[in-house]
Amino acid sequence: MSNIAYIGLGSNMGIREDYLLLGLKALNNENGIEIKSVSSIYETDPVGYLDQQDFLNMVVEVSTTYKPEQLLEITQKIESKAKKNTPVRWGPRTLDLDILLYNQENIKMDDLLIPHPRMSERSFVIIPLMELNPQLMLPHEQETVSEIYRRLTDKEGVRLWKTNNGVGEYGLFES
Ligand code: ADP
Ligand code: MG
Repeated sequence: MSNIAYIGLGSNMGIREDYLLLGLKALNNENGIEIKSVSSIYETDPVGYLDQQDFLNMVVEVSTTYKPEQLLEITQKIESKAKKNTPVRWGPRTLDLDILLYNQENIKMDDLLIPHPRMSERSFVIIPLMELNPQLMLPHEQETVSEIYRRLTDKEGVRLWKTNNGVGEYGLFES
């Protein structure tokens, strides 16, 4: 499991925390993925369409044997599994999984861009990522996560919602 990836999770529909937990469990159930660390959960004002529920966001660090494109297949499979639990076909998101980083690689494929575009302008990504690894260097920025944090302008839209006090906090490793 030599590859390190960071994945951002977001939900703004229904029982939002349950969708995040569903995402964590589904990732952890994959043979080629091991969850290394899990951020706290943050509540975030919606960007763009304001007429929707606030989001819950978090970031996880995983080690994985999967190649980036395999990881995307898995995150998309998990997203559609979550979507089946709701009749709404567009708009608010039950569960959004974004691959933020994969090692220090720059990946440009038709359907996969890593680092995730715009991640360094988004407080709801950078704040939980900073909790996990403030000294992490972003390959396209030549800056650490905490340096990027200092110049963010939308920080006040992101509030700590539930602190992660350690492994198992989210029932992740329940049977
Ligand atoms: P956003 O996450 O920006 O709100 P969507 O989740 O609707 O947008 O975008 C999904 C599309 O983004 C997918 O078709 C996928 O191929 C593409 N995509 C490109 N790069 C990534 C990435 N790093 N992680 C996840 N999806 C990505
Ligand atoms: Mg997405």
